[in-house]
Amino acid sequence: MTADTNDNYEALVQFLYRAPIGLAQVSASGAIEMLNPMAAQLLMPLSTDGALDNLFEVLATVAPTLPQLARDFDEPAGVVCESLRVSLGESAHANGVAERRQSRVLSISLLKFDNGSMMAVLTDATHEVARAHQELAKGLHDAARTDALTQMPNRAALRDHLQQLMGLCPDAAAREFAVVFINCDRFKLINDTLGHAAGDDVLGLMAGRLRATLRSGDRVGPAGGPGQMAARIGSDEFVIILDGIRALDDLLAVARRLLDVLSLPYQTCGNQISCGISMGLLTGAEASGDADAVLQDASIAMVEAKRAGGARLAVFNPGMRERAAQRGAMEIALRRALERGELFVLYQPVVGLQHGSGIDRAAGVEALVRWQHPERGMVSPLEFIGVAEECGLIGALGDFVLTTACADFMHWQAVLGARAPHRMAVNLSRAQLADPGLKNRVQEILQACGMAPDCLQLEITESLAAQDETVQGRLHELKTLGLTLALDDFGTGYSSLSSLHLLPVDTVKIDRSFVSQAETSAHHRVLIGATLQVARSLGMGTVAEGIETAFQAQFVREIGCDKGQGFLFSRPVSAAAILQWVMDEAPVAAG
Ligand code: C2E
Ligand code: CA
Ligand code: CA
Repeated sequence: MTADTNDNYEALVQFLYRAPIGLAQVSASGAIEMLNPMAAQLLMPLSTDGALDNLFEVLATVAPTLPQLARDFDEPAGVVCESLRVSLGESAHANGVAERRQSRVLSISLLKFDNGSMMAVLTDATHEVARAHQELAKGLHDAARTDALTQMPNRAALRDHLQQLMGLCPDAAAREFAVVFINCDRFKLINDTLGHAAGDDVLGLMAGRLRATLRSGDRVGPAGGPGQMAARIGSDEFVIILDGIRALDDLLAVARRLLDVLSLPYQTCGNQISCGISMGLLTGAEASGDADAVLQDASIAMVEAKRAGGARLAVFNPGMRERAAQRGAMEIALRRALERGELFVLYQPVVGLQHGSGIDRAAGVEALVRWQHPERGMVSPLEFIGVAEECGLIGALGDFVLTTACADFMHWQAVLGARAPHRMAVNLSRAQLADPGLKNRVQEILQACGMAPDCLQLEITESLAAQDETVQGRLHELKTLGLTLALDDFGTGYSSLSSLHLLPVDTVKIDRSFVSQAETSAHHRVLIGATLQVARSLGMGTVAEGIETAFQAQFVREIGCDKGQGFLFSRPVSAAAILQWVMDEAPVAAG
C-alpha cells in the first residue's frame, strides 16, 4: 500500500466509524467481526447478555428469518435483504420521562461481499415510520372529510370550520361570515327520470359552478375572506360559508349571483336539465348555538324558500324556527292520521247549469279530503297537503283519496244507477305529478274498483300545468288511460288564455276569486266571458267554482258556462249525503 492509499483507507475507516448509520461486518454464520459505535448503540438494547458476538443471535427474537435468508441467498455477492423493518417494542422517551411511548423501529439491510463475509447496515427508522403513519392518517382523515363525488369538503369538515369561525368571533354582531344553504328543487325527479348517473353529473357540474363563481370574487360581490368554504353536505345539499360579508345587502348580492349561475340549464348525457334552486341565507349575527344548530337554521330558511314556490332565496329569522317545529309536529300527526284512519273524504256536487230552468244534480262531484284531528278538530287540506308533499306522505294520501273516491263512486252507481253522479273529480298535487309511478297507480285503482276511466277527472292547478315540461309529459301519460283532466283555479296562475291550447286539459275551472267578484266588477265579468269563449273554441268544458249567490249562478249560466260548483248548491258532504242530495228534487235557485 502506498502512503496515499493508506491515508484514504484510514479516512474511509474513520468515516464508517462515525457514520450515523450502524455498520457491522459479519461472517456467513452471523459472527460479528467488526462494528461501528452506531451499530453497537442500536444492537445493545437487544442483547440479552450484554455481548454483541453474533448478529443473528442478537436479532433472533426480532428478525428470526435472517439466518435463513442468508443461507438461501446463493449468489456470490449482492443484497440479501433490504430495509427489513423490525419493531423493537416500546421504549421510554429520553430522560426517562414517560411522555409519549413509541415503538422503536430498526431497519436492517444485509449485503453479501463474498462467501465469507457480509455487511449489515442498521438504521433507526422510528421517525421515518412515524412520519409515514402520520401521512397515512392524514390521508384517511382528509378522505373522511371530503365528498367523494365533488371533492368538496363534506359535512364534518364544514361543521368544524363553522365552529371555528364562530369561536374566533364570539360577538355575534361583529361577525363577517354568512351561511348559504343550497338545495335543488326537484332533484329526485332528475334521478328518477334520467337515472343516478345523470343526477351525479348535475351535482358535479353544480360543484364546478360554485367553485368558479366563488373564485371570481369580483363577480359575486365582495372578495371572499380566508374563511370562505363551499361544501356538499347531503345528496343535493350544498353549503357555502362566505367570509368578509359586512351587510345583508352584500350577502343578498352574492347569493343572487350564485342563484343565477346555478339555475342555468345543465348539459349532461345529451339532456338539457333545468333545475330550480332554493337557498336559505343566514348572517353571522343570527348564528346561535353550535355549528349543527346554525346549519339547521339555514336549512329551515331554505325550506321556507321552497315552500314559497322554490327557485328563490329566503333569509333566516328566528320566527321560522317556530313554523318549522309546527310543521314537524304536523308531519308526525299526519303520519299517525293516515295509520289511524283520521282522514276521510267529502264530496261537493258539481251541477249542470245548462239544464232547462233547473240544474242537473248528477253531473258530478269533487272529492275533497278532510282530517279529523283528535285535538284540533277539522283541519283544512290547505294546511296539511303542503306538509304531506314535503314529508313524502302525499303518495299515500293521494292513493287513499283516489281509492276512497272511486269506491264511493261505484257504490253510488250500484244504488242509483243512471241517476248517480256521472263524474268523479279528484285533485292531484304537485308532488303526485312528479312521481313517475302515478299513471300505473291510477290505473290499478280504477281496475281494482271496476270504474270506467272516463268517469274520472283529475284536477291540477293551473300554475302547475303551465310551468313544467315534465308535468306536461305526465299529463299526456295520464290521458292515455282514458280519463279526463281539469285545469283547477284558472285565472290565478301563470298561463294566459293564449296558451290554454297548449295544455292537454278537457275542462277549465274558473277560480272562485273571479266568480265571487262577478257581481261587483265588470272587469271580472269580462274575464270570465273571455275564458268561456276561448275554452269553448278549444272544445273544453267549463266549470265555475265557488258560486255562493243566485246572481253568480245566473250570470255564469247566461254566458254559457257548462257547470257550477259552490255553497249555493251544496257544501262538501259525506258519501251517504250525496246519495240523498242527488235524489232530492228540491230546486236550487240557479237563475
Ligand atoms: P280546490 O280544489 O279549489 O277545492 C275547492 C275548495 O273550495 C274546497 O275547499 C271547497 O270546500 C271550497 N269551496 C267550494 N265551494 C265554495 C264556495 O262557494 N265558497 C267558498 N268560500 N269555498 C268553496 P277545501 O275542501 O278546503 O279544499 C281546499 C283545497 O285543498 C282544494 O282547493 C284543493 O286544492 C286542496 N285539496 C282538497 N282535497 C284535496 C285532495 O284530496 N288532494 C289534493 N291534492 N288536494 C286537495
Ligand atoms: Ca279542485
Ligand atoms: Ca279550485
